Amino acid sequence: MTTSRPLPVPDDLSAPYWAAAARHELALARCARCARFDIPPGLTCSHCGTTDPAYRFERVSGRGVVRSWTIVRRASSVGFAGEVPYLLVDIELDEQPGLRMIGRLLDGPDTELAEGLAVQVAFEDIAAGTAIPAFTVAPRRPS
Ligand SMILES: [Zn+2]
Repeated sequence: MTTSRPLPVPDDLSAPYWAAAARHELALARCARCARFDIPPGLTCSHCGTTDPAYRFERVSGRGVVRSWTIVRRASSVGFAGEVPYLLVDIELDEQPGLRMIGRLLDGPDTELAEGLAVQVAFEDIAAGTAIPAFTVAPRRPS
């Protein structure tokens, strides 16, 4: 498997996220002090401000709803030149109000989107041992 796309370079803070993604699991950093998920985890928790968030990564459902989106028509780097056009979606995950994450929507650029549309995480295997979290439209649940 080869890709011209840039590959993630995990550091100490992001390594658990990427290791989980390689297993096709979405795992997010949770602050040990306030117990809220923080995307992306930083030196301080963006919710409670502690300088010692002692993040622990927990697997989450990967379910959420579309809050916004855009179609990328011009590649931001040469690695994506062969991929345009594609959809980027801004997702609010079910686990926590306001927990937002941006990723590609793999259903294609012509997908009909609406605010509140249910999605679920999916993974793009772009290199050996490297998978990128993305999203797909969730199957309709009976109402
Ligand atoms: Zn916190």
